[in-house]
Amino acid sequence: MRILNDTALHKGMRKKLVDIIRQKGIRDEKVLDAILSIPRHYFLDSVLDKYAYEDRAFPIGEGQTISQPYTVAYQTELLQVKPFDKILEIGTGSAYQAAVLGHLQAKVYTIERQKGLFEYRKAHFPLASRYPNIKFFYGDGFLGLPAYMPFDKILVTAAAPFVPQPLLNQLKPGAFLVIPVDEGEGQRMKRITKHADGSISEELFDYFRFVPMLEGKQNGNMY
Ligand code: SAH
Repeated sequence: MRILNDTALHKGMRKKLVDIIRQKGIRDEKVLDAILSIPRHYFLDSVLDKYAYEDRAFPIGEGQTISQPYTVAYQTELLQVKPFDKILEIGTGSAYQAAVLGHLQAKVYTIERQKGLFEYRKAHFPLASRYPNIKFFYGDGFLGLPAYMPFDKILVTAAAPFVPQPLLNQLKPGAFLVIPVDEGEGQRMKRITKHADGSISEELFDYFRFVPMLEGKQNGNMY
């Protein structure tokens, strides 16, 4: 277990990170406040402490990564989170993104397909007392979380080969899904809205690079 210590140095580095993300185009002050408030170094191995506030992805074990802060901010901005929104996140990973959604007072349901990552995060979520509004699940995100549907928003944080139909089914009418969809070289960020009459429309945003969204659960232990 690592010692959680959020020093003035960390806070200073976070401030600089927020400036960088703002310069890259993120405008939502609530999202920027979440990045400013959440100690990202808690979500990384302590050897990476010095680098935790660089705007880049890092390995978290099992071949997975904690997303780049800019990407987290970008996806969160697209989600237009409101307090008490019921949000499903596919790809818990480090749970940093889940913490950002938790900070915005959403009711967060986050699902991970790798058993080791899921168990580790559920047992050692560093901000558990600060964000009791986050619940952890082990499962295949292609299937969503039917027992808890419908959701106000769904966020996919892995590269999806296509838009899984169960996720559309689990959205409330008028709700939307933010998902990076594979297009050869990278993934196109899409926001897909399910209208009250059941029809679907999509908005297109920038290109990103995520680790792949894989089908089925993986049953390996990390520790
Ligand atoms: N949101 C994470 C990003 C993690 S990277 C963070 O803030 O750190 C993407 C994660 O998605 C990985 O942990 C990977 O194991 C997971 N993943 C990939 N395919 C999945 C699926 N079908 N269902 C659930 N999780 C999946």
